[in-house]
Amino acid sequence: MAFAITQTCCNDATCVSVCPVNCIRPTPEEQAFGSTEMLHIDPETCIDCGACADACPVDAIFPVDSLPAGQREYADMNAAYFARTEAEAQDTGDRSGPNFHPWGEPVFDRVLPPDFGPLRVAIVGTGPAGMYAAEDLLLHTRAEVTLIDRLPTAGGLIRYGVAPDHPATKKIGDTFARFLTHPRVRLHLGLDVGRDITPEEVAAHHDAVVYAVGAAADRRLGIPGEDRVGSLSATDFVAWYNGHPDVAPDAVDLSTERVLVVGNGNVALDVARLLVSDPETLAGTEIARHALAELRRSKVREVVLLGRRGPDDAAYTRPELLALKHLPEVDLVVDDHDPRIGAVIDGSRPNGKAAVLRDVAREAVDWSVPPDTSVRRRIVLRFLSTPLEMCGDADLRAVRATDGDGELLIPAGLALRAIGYRGVPQTGLPYDEATGTVPHEHGRVTGTAGAYVVGWIKRGPSGGIGANRVCAAETVGTLLADAVAGTLPAPTAGPRRFHRLARRRSRR
Ligand code: NAP
Repeated sequence: MAFAITQTCCNDATCVSVCPVNCIRPTPEEQAFGSTEMLHIDPETCIDCGACADACPVDAIFPVDSLPAGQREYADMNAAYFARTEAEAQDTGDRSGPNFHPWGEPVFDRVLPPDFGPLRVAIVGTGPAGMYAAEDLLLHTRAEVTLIDRLPTAGGLIRYGVAPDHPATKKIGDTFARFLTHPRVRLHLGLDVGRDITPEEVAAHHDAVVYAVGAAADRRLGIPGEDRVGSLSATDFVAWYNGHPDVAPDAVDLSTERVLVVGNGNVALDVARLLVSDPETLAGTEIARHALAELRRSKVREVVLLGRRGPDDAAYTRPELLALKHLPEVDLVVDDHDPRIGAVIDGSRPNGKAAVLRDVAREAVDWSVPPDTSVRRRIVLRFLSTPLEMCGDADLRAVRATDGDGELLIPAGLALRAIGYRGVPQTGLPYDEATGTVPHEHGRVTGTAGAYVVGWIKRGPSGGIGANRVCAAETVGTLLADAVAGTLPAPTAGPRRFHRLARRRSRR
């Protein structure tokens, strides 16, 4: 029978650590782990024990013969990962039978010397990166952890970034929520480090401070009209439908028939999916009430995804693209404006991104014709195209773009710029303007003793939720090594004083 990993895989590799026959790849030790879209179960060595499904924090693992409709392709995708060339197969191990873990000397890399008192660590940010760091410290050391978040609700991108129609992904928040009430944790919400309290004040009361503040801003296109009414960042749109307190409930107007989304990463796919989904399927989710009301009033018939790359190397992942094909009452169409697009799709290797589009309709779209309101809603993938200008008068009317051969005008009343997030400078920490990150060595902030970074402010804004687990392990490992080496600055005040100070300064 075997099990298979499906769309919501978060890559945090919890399943890898519980698999008794080591049949899930790539493992965090393998090079491919850093770039894989998802993990895969080898159907030939899986012994059907289901330990991985029990441990999966996002309900992504199912027995192959009970895969839900729309997820059946994952049986083949899991198997196909192991059907590789001989050279590549070396990385996937011996497949002649169960691939039991080799016995070796046990490694206790989180154990501090017995006479070591509990460390006091502050973590700034309660999103996935901060919570994986907290989990590591709480499960593997006696550390006392102060969790701080500028918002009145904990969760970061799990709460305000994951799309509401991905409840399985949001479930990882339940795992993290357990740690918010851990006896060695103190939680301070509505406390902005740099505004309500200084980094020096936080540092003075702790042995170390871990910044897990993510990438709070959006990248800019740098084209004329970018700030016209009707041109929004997808970051704001995502925050809007998730009820983020920084975005006004009336920030989005869906009275247009066509929306253009710039970029074709997973955020672009999230916003496109939400815009064409039947609002009633979202009614039972955590979507903000104002967003649900606007989606019910929505006139949107068509969402155009404008990507500058071709179908085989677009930024989205295969599982998210596959999900677009299975949206009820929604058509997916490839704009066949360039013969290279069809050629890439037809010639794609089976595991390639473009192969997902083989059975998707192709059409040479005439952009001078408004979307047809008598047919189903649709998403149009327009590859090999770059925006040049957001055109209009007071409001956006169209997006001018180039496809290399010439220019085109795509009429649209709303444009969402889904071209990536960007980290912002943190008071008291160095900042690399080019990457929007804090310079560090294995998580230790360069030139700032006792300060550490984890997540997108450390690595830049790429990688899903689970990528933060390995990232946090590296940072926590560095912090503990520094503690043992005696290089952490000693705190000058105790925890009680900090908690009193934090309560006084909190805006909650
Ligand atoms: P992303 O994956 O980096 O995609 C950004 C997109 O914007 C790319 O298509 C990029 O094109 C395009 N772009 C960048 N600059 C541009 C410009 N000047 N003009 C035109 N296009 C431009 O970023 P993201 O979508 O924000 O996602 C961030 C991370 O979160 C990713 O790792 C993503 O997988 C993850 N995420 C995952 C999920 C999920 O699993 N469901 C959901 C949301 C986000 P190029 O590729 O040509 O640079």
